[in-house]
Amino acid sequence: MMKRELAAKALATPGLRRLVAAAAPRTGVVLLNYHRVGDSGASRYDRGLWSATADGFDAQVAFLKANCDVIALDEVQDALGQRGRHVAITFDDGYLDNHDIAYPVLRHHGVPAAFFIATGFIDSRPLPWWDAIAMQVRETVRASLDLAPWLPDALALGDDREPSIRLVLSIYKGLDFTQVAPFRARLAAETGIEPPETVEGEWMDWNMIREMARGGMTIGGHTVNHPVLSSLPVDAQRAEIQGCAARLREELGIGMRHFAYPVGSRRAFDAATMQLLHEAGVQQAYSFYGGVAQPGSAPLDLQRVAVVEDIGTELFRAMVQLPQVFCRRDAA
Ligand SMILES: [Zn+2]
Repeated sequence: MMKRELAAKALATPGLRRLVAAAAPRTGVVLLNYHRVGDSGASRYDRGLWSATADGFDAQVAFLKANCDVIALDEVQDALGQRGRHVAITFDDGYLDNHDIAYPVLRHHGVPAAFFIATGFIDSRPLPWWDAIAMQVRETVRASLDLAPWLPDALALGDDREPSIRLVLSIYKGLDFTQVAPFRARLAAETGIEPPETVEGEWMDWNMIREMARGGMTIGGHTVNHPVLSSLPVDAQRAEIQGCAARLREELGIGMRHFAYPVGSRRAFDAATMQLLHEAGVQQAYSFYGGVAQPGSAPLDLQRVAVVEDIGTELFRAMVQLPQVFCRRDAA
């Protein structure tokens, strides 16, 4: 990351970047992925999900509009066959700020975006595990947490809880599924905080999503409950995919042509997942392990890159202007 940031800084000289960009043939579509926008510091939950402040997002969209072709997902297949500077904006999960903050910015600039909805989040308003864990570690009054055997030494909690939150989340993501429930139980006992089943003010409702669809935004699927699909038996995968499609059809009257894999790493989906998506009528599906969608990319594995809050203006611009260099895929 350091090297990438330094290189982006060097490229901040406009003349140099123009020269490099002009010399580099450009195919493919940069598919940007956001989760949340707005004021992360005000959140009780997982601040790592914020992609930009409201002003930062506005500046990014203005830059994209001035320097790129911002296209809708239905235009991606055509764009893959053309040279140019094509970019698409996507949001995952269905958080409330997508409607309240991102959508007005997109409307103001007149650019399309896509929103991948985990329909169970809209229907049931749960507090997902990442938000629950962040809240427990941030708000506990305990000075340290005993998470052995998952973490051999006691986790001392300092004033700045963010590093501890990142550490506990990374442990959780590496757990075998048999360890998930015991780990959650231990975390509740150690923090003294039992996370609530449901939460208000975090998720969009169907009226908001309908409003965005009417306003020209693409609405796609992201399962019902946001599981790692490849970890499920095929029947359960099918239920997550078809259940999501059914809710989009009932609420919005649309087919599920676009779908984003929860988590989106190379191992988060498999051949069975892709077959089920095909059967459900999905035409394009989106992963999340970095890289740029290329003419040869499989339609059900179009690569996206993350926009994260601390990305910085220069690295963001370098990502969309020189994606060959700045949108590398994660290591396998
Ligand atoms: Zn997601």
